[in-house]
Amino acid sequence: MKRARRRALQVALGTAMAGLVPRHTPLFALREAEAARPGRSAGGTTPDARSPSTAALPQVVLDVQFDPATRLLRGEATWTIPSGVALELALDRRFTLEALSVDGRPRPLAEGGAPVGTTRRVIAIAAAPGTRTWLLRWRGPLADLDRSLDHRGVIGALPPMASPRGSYLPAGSGWYPETTLPVHYRVRVELPSGQRAVVPGRLVSESADGTGSHAVYESILPTEGVTLMAGPYRVDERPLPLPGGRSVRLRTYFVEGVHPLAQDYLAAAAAPIERYDREIGPYPFDGFSIVSSPLPTGFGLPGATYIGEAVLGLPFMRGQSLAHEVLHNWWGNGVRPDWRSGNWSEGLTTLMADHALRAAQSPDAARQMRWSWLRDFAAIAPGSDAPLQAFTSRTHGAASAVGYGKSAMLFHMVRGEIGDTAFHEALRDLWRSHAGRSAAWKDLQAAFERRAGRSLAALFEPMVSGTGAPLLLPQSVRAEPDGATVRLTFAEPLLYAFRLPVVAWTGDRAEPTTLELRRGERSVTWRPPGGRIPDALQFDPGFAAWRRLAPGESPPLLRDAMLAPDARLLVASDGDEGWRSAAAELAARMLEAAKPATARLTELDAAVPLLIIGRHEDIDRLVRRDPRLIRPTPLPRQADAALWAARSSAGAPRIVASVEDTVALIDLHRRAPHYGAQGHVGFRSGRAIVSGVGSIESPRVPVAP
Ligand SMILES: [Zn+2]
Repeated sequence: MKRARRRALQVALGTAMAGLVPRHTPLFALREAEAARPGRSAGGTTPDARSPSTAALPQVVLDVQFDPATRLLRGEATWTIPSGVALELALDRRFTLEALSVDGRPRPLAEGGAPVGTTRRVIAIAAAPGTRTWLLRWRGPLADLDRSLDHRGVIGALPPMASPRGSYLPAGSGWYPETTLPVHYRVRVELPSGQRAVVPGRLVSESADGTGSHAVYESILPTEGVTLMAGPYRVDERPLPLPGGRSVRLRTYFVEGVHPLAQDYLAAAAAPIERYDREIGPYPFDGFSIVSSPLPTGFGLPGATYIGEAVLGLPFMRGQSLAHEVLHNWWGNGVRPDWRSGNWSEGLTTLMADHALRAAQSPDAARQMRWSWLRDFAAIAPGSDAPLQAFTSRTHGAASAVGYGKSAMLFHMVRGEIGDTAFHEALRDLWRSHAGRSAAWKDLQAAFERRAGRSLAALFEPMVSGTGAPLLLPQSVRAEPDGATVRLTFAEPLLYAFRLPVVAWTGDRAEPTTLELRRGERSVTWRPPGGRIPDALQFDPGFAAWRRLAPGESPPLLRDAMLAPDARLLVASDGDEGWRSAAAELAARMLEAAKPATARLTELDAAVPLLIIGRHEDIDRLVRRDPRLIRPTPLPRQADAALWAARSSAGAPRIVASVEDTVALIDLHRRAPHYGAQGHVGFRSGRAIVSGVGSIESPRVPVAP
C-alpha cells in the first residue's frame, strides 16, 4: 500500500505539471492515502464505531528540527510498540542512523538494518511479550525542492524535500523511521525564524518569534504515516461553529505571494464542511488547514489540503476542488477504503462533491459531467481497463476513467435505483458504522441493500469485479403482434440489472420512462406506459448508466488531435517568419506529438490527425472546400481567435485554429492547451468568451412494426 501510495503521488505531480487545468478534479483528484482511524473525534463527539485494535496500535513521538536553507534534518523517534506487535521501520538511506536503543539500553548500530535496495534501510522488530520502547536518532540532508521543481516531469521516487520557499516531507518517503501500520503520533517540529510547520492532526501547541518556531501536533486518529509541510507561511484562522457546540479551526498557511487569497479560502472551506457534516455525520477532525505548496500539488490529508501556489488563484480550486478535498475527510480519511478490495472513495467523492456542484448549476451541467465519464472511458483502448476492485489510485488515464468515472457512475446508478432518501440514509449508516475504520465495496453494497430492502448484487457485482461497458443500444426494437408491448434485443447479454432511463417519442412528444434491464438477458419485453407504441426510443439520453457511447454521442473534442501521437500541422495562410514561427509554437504547445510533421493543403482530408492554423478568411475558404470543418454555431464571428474540433471523412481528428492575425495566434500559445476537453473555444481580447462541447444527441431508434 505504501508503495502504491508513493507511486500515486508521483503520478499526481506529473499530471499536475503536465497541464494546469484539466477537466474535473485534475490536481485534486488524487488524495494522498493518508487514511485515519478515529479513536475519538473533534469537539467532544465520538464516532459510534471505534477500531477494536486501537489500543494495540504502535505510537511514535517525533522530535524533529531542520533548516530549510541548509536542508539538514535531525530527529529523534520514540516508538512504543505494544505487546505481540511486529513491525518494520524504514528510513531513507540519505539519513545516518546515529543512535538506537531498546527500553533504554543502547544497541549496536549494526542493528540499524541492512539497506534494502538503494533507498531504504529497514529495521525489523519482531513481536515480543510486553510493551517495548525503541528510540532512534537520525540526521541527514533533505533533497532540494527547488531542484525538483526544475525536473517536474521526471520526479522519480518522491523524496523528502526542503527549501526556504517550502518543504514537503511526505508520509511514505522514509523521512523518519516509519511503518506501514496505522499509528498514533505526536510530532514536535522546530524551524528557524520565519518558517512554520504543519502536520495533519490536533495542534497541541505552537510558538513563533525572532528565534524560530515550534509546533506540536498529535494525531486525532491513527494514520498510515506522518506528512510534514513547512514554509514561510503567514497563518490566518477563523473558527467554524458546527451544531452541538462543536467548532472547527479553519486555517490557511499561505506564503506571501498568495496570502491575499487567505480570507477567500477560509470563507470557501466553511460551506462544504457544514454541508457534509449535516449530510453524512460529524466532521471527524478538530481543524481544517489549507496549505500552499511550491509544488503543483493538490491533495487531501486528514484535516488538511496541500495546494500548489500556482493554482490557488483559480476559481475552480476554491469551488469544486476544495469541496472534493473537504469531502475526503469523510470518504477516504474518515472511512478508509479497504485497499485489498479497491478504492471506492474517489468515485463517491466525485459524485457527492464534483457532480453535486455541477447539478447545483444546472441539470445539463451534471449531464455533461456524466457524459464526460463515459467519454473518458471511451478514449481508453478496449480491454485495457481493470475492474473497480483493482483500483487504488490514479496512475494513468485508464485507472482514472475507472476509479473516478466508473465508480462515480455506479454510485449515481445506485441512487437512481434506490432513490435519494435511501441513498443518503445508507451513507449516514456507513459513516456511523465505519467512521475510523476501513470499508470494502461489499460494505457499501450492504449499506445500500439494507436501506433498499433488496439485493443489489446484480448491479454491484458486475460493476465492481467486471471490466468493459455495455452498449445499451438495442440491435432491434419491434412492436409485438399484441400491439401493446415492444421487444428489444441487444447484441450481447446485459451486463447488469438496472432501470435504464428511456425517452419514448411519439411525434414531437417525449415521454420519460424506464426499461428494466436484467443481468445476463439479451432481450427485454417492454410495455409502454399508456399502452401506446411510440414511434421511437432514445436510450439513456441523460447519461445515467455506465455504458459505451452510441453514434452521435461523441462529438469531437480538441484533445482528440492534441493527444494523437501522429498529429500534423497544416498552416493554411501564408505569412512572414513571425507568423510561421507562431504557428509552429502553437503546434508544439498543443500537440502531444513530438516534432509534428507538416501537412499540405492537398492533405486536408487525409486520414491523419491535423492541427489546421489560418487567418479567418483562409479558414472560411477551407470550410467551403470541406464542410466537415464547419465552425460550430456557438462561436461568434467577432472572436479574435477560435479553436474547434472536427473530423475528416475517415474520422481522423481535426483542430481548426482560426485567428485574426499573428498577435491573436501568439495569444493562443498559453491558453489553448487548457481547452482539450472542449469541442470549441472562442477568445476576444485575450479572454475565453465561449467554450463547450457542442450538442450531444443520443440516437432515436425507431420502433419497427
Ligand atoms: Zn479525490
